[in-house]
Amino acid sequence: MSTSVLVINCGSSSIKYALVSEHRENRIFGLAENLGSAEARIKGITTGGAALELSIPDANHEKALETILERLSHHHPQAIGHRVVHGGTLTKAERLTPEIIERIRAATPLAPLHNPAHLVGIDATMRLFPELPQVAVFDTAFHQTMPAHAYRYALPKFLYTEHNVRRYGFHGTSHAYVSERGSALAGSLKQGGWLTAHLGNGSSTCAIWNGQSVDTSMGLTPLEGVVMGTRSGDVDPSIHSFLASNLGWDLYKIDKMLNNQSGLLGLSDLSNDMRTLIEASEQGNEDAAIAIEVFCYRLAKSLAALSCGLPRIDGLFFTGGIGENSAYIREKTLSYLPHFGFHLSQEQNNQLERGTEGRIDTGLGPQIWVIPTDEEGRIAKETVSVVESEVKQAAIKKSDFESAMV
Ligand code: ADP
Repeated sequence: MSTSVLVINCGSSSIKYALVSEHRENRIFGLAENLGSAEARIKGITTGGAALELSIPDANHEKALETILERLSHHHPQAIGHRVVHGGTLTKAERLTPEIIERIRAATPLAPLHNPAHLVGIDATMRLFPELPQVAVFDTAFHQTMPAHAYRYALPKFLYTEHNVRRYGFHGTSHAYVSERGSALAGSLKQGGWLTAHLGNGSSTCAIWNGQSVDTSMGLTPLEGVVMGTRSGDVDPSIHSFLASNLGWDLYKIDKMLNNQSGLLGLSDLSNDMRTLIEASEQGNEDAAIAIEVFCYRLAKSLAALSCGLPRIDGLFFTGGIGENSAYIREKTLSYLPHFGFHLSQEQNNQLERGTEGRIDTGLGPQIWVIPTDEEGRIAKETVSVVESEVKQAAIKKSDFESAMV
């Protein structure tokens, strides 16, 4: 690969990585998992497209990153792009400096599961590759264009002004990529009003007007919004006091239940995996059937609510593992939105799965598209643009300095 960007997504015990080529057409990618345990290993795809499986017993994040980079160093990445879930009020991708790292640390209370893991990865790559430009790309940044009436909660003002309690939104790189790619395919080049439904293990919706996020379903944390694999999405906040008073549960237990034991898993009492639930429901499992129904109804309800942020609706984009692959879920969701004038083409909908992009409406009413997401590609693109704009600014400063010296 010629010029390329190494994209890194550090979790608490795993690291996803992808080496993305300049025009984003080539990828080498993989996953280091079970870090800190005897089963630590790297699984991935090598340059030639062959499968890679490498045992790295007891490796921590730093050791795993060292091994990944050793294997990729002959490609000479020009920069490293880090996915960071919560950027607080940072509005765009940023070059990693001590000040930006401090701001990521300061946002930790808002993403206690994610930001500490990202900081471990950032710390390791800064030590291992001090000469490489490194950029943080935030899941929250795309949603910083939301107006106050979309991001404020109806809570006492000081919680916002003094403690940053507001809606932030997540999956920003996916919503940004899908809406940009989709609206370009639709010929409207970021113009108009679009809804996106990112449906994976975590799911969220977004309303985008002229290329900018105007509202989204996730809030202060990625728990708010639609039904997810194991996350409840919206519930009455009084559930906390109800469970504390009636079952004696503490906050930790309630939080764990809402994040890890709810959603599709909680409803079905079977699985968080939509494929498993569709199969079970076809075989007559009623809990699986109701889980799917709640998922689709709540999703449609969220899309309808977000449409209030748009002067008009030009179309809807489906993405994420469920959105890209399940014609059944797309059809069921749209069946709850008859008054929006969507006309789904059964034939095109049924044909579209497994990573292919395409339009699935009949040509009447707002457009409906399936757009496979590309979060790594988007992170690589934003990383390059931060690095290039710094190079340009340095060149401008140099020429200003030289002309001042003349
Ligand atoms: P993540 O949020 O972890 O990146 P993905 O975007 O890969 O997750 O989505 C995972 C979800 O996609 C799982 O619920 C999985 O069952 C679902 N999925 C994948 N393929 C299909 C399919 N053909 N039909 C229905 N659901 C599918």
